[in-house]
Amino acid sequence: MYDYDLLVVGSANADLVIGVERRPGAGETVLGSDLAVHPGGKGANQAVAAARLGARTALLARVGDDAYGRLLLESQRAAGVDTVGVLVGGAPTGVALITVDPSGDNSIVVSPGANARLTPRDVRAATSLFHASRVVSAQLEIPVETVEEVVRILPPDTRFVLNPSPPRPLDTEVLAACDPLIVNEHEAKVLLGEAYEVASGPEDWARLLLAKGPRSVVVTLGAGGALVASSEGVVRVEAVAVDAVDTTGAGDSFTAALAWRLGAGASLAEAAACAARVGAVAVTRRGAQESFPTADEVEALRG
Ligand code: ADP
Repeated sequence: MYDYDLLVVGSANADLVIGVERRPGAGETVLGSDLAVHPGGKGANQAVAAARLGARTALLARVGDDAYGRLLLESQRAAGVDTVGVLVGGAPTGVALITVDPSGDNSIVVSPGANARLTPRDVRAATSLFHASRVVSAQLEIPVETVEEVVRILPPDTRFVLNPSPPRPLDTEVLAACDPLIVNEHEAKVLLGEAYEVASGPEDWARLLLAKGPRSVVVTLGAGGALVASSEGVVRVEAVAVDAVDTTGAGDSFTAALAWRLGAGASLAEAAACAARVGAVAVTRRGAQESFPTADEVEALRG
């Protein structure tokens, strides 16, 4: 019997957002709106998304011993995430400094801070959390060696889900553990390199990625839905038609929902269909964590 449906290993950031008429150029100062501070980071987002759906969720992450770290711990706990694995200290909390202009275009500076100090040793010290979890998910806003250690200590019956974002080359051991590897078009492009240029389209990307060793692959295509690929072939999962207002966090909520359903025994295609409904609700609302639905809200979308 597992204590957690999902253990998320990943980043936690404070997103500091200022609206501006015009984003500043080099050497320039512009006045902006009042500051808005939002909890974010792909790991923290995935954990909140899963917990809101009702998954028993834990987060393994590192924040600073500062006000933003406390804000992130608070938002995790408020969503029902177990924060026993959130380490505190070693560097300031990760921060994303975001300026947004009226057209919605933004400029972002990320200071990884404590996220960069989540080490392989921290993973080993949390071995009991891994044994207590049915599914583990990770992203790449933490050191790649830390993700490599996750794969090394993963118990044989625990399923591993990876969203390689921001994308960078992965070693074969990590790729082989992914079930699935979840990518959007940008991530597919980086992971495929030259092969992307000659590929005929998303189905081809999925097949080529699968050939790199993961047990399964999911390619998300925004309003175009998703493709799931495994040894049984490639299947398209339709998106749910909605009026999107803000796609921030869509991929994080999709991944969390997929991981949760897989842990509950759903097939990859079934889990992706549920995840597409979760992503669809998330894009109808502003923000990241604020936009993630409960299971009842996802059910309501089914009509
Ligand atoms: P990312 O945020 O990682 O780029 P996507 O934009 O592909 O990921 O979104 C993830 C999933 O969320 C999609 O596969 C889809 O199911 C859902 N989704 C995203 N945008 C929309 C949209 N405009 N309408 C309906 N569903 C969407």
